[in-house]
Amino acid sequence: MGKKKKETIRGLGAKYGGTLRKRNSRVFKMLKAHRECPSCSSMKLRRAATGIWTCGSCGYTIAGGAFDVTPPKRT
Ligand SMILES: [Zn+2]
Repeated sequence: MGKKKKETIRGLGAKYGGTLRKRNSRVFKMLKAHRECPSCSSMKLRRAATGIWTCGSCGYTIAGGAFDVTPPKRT
C-alpha cells in the first residue's frame, strides 16, 4: 500500500516538473528570440524590458506582452 502511494506522488511530481521545465524553456526562448520589427521589418526587435520591445535597427519601441509580442500582421 505504501509503495503504491509513493508511486502516485512521484508520477505527479514528474508530470508537474516536466510542464514547468517546458514552460520555462519556452519563456526563455521568447526572451532571447529576436523578432521582426513592425517598422523596418528587420529581425532586431528585442525585449528591452517587461512588456517593452525595442528594435536595434531603427529604434522603434513597441509595448507588447511580458514575454511575447504579437506584431499586427495585416497584409
Ligand atoms: Zn526596426
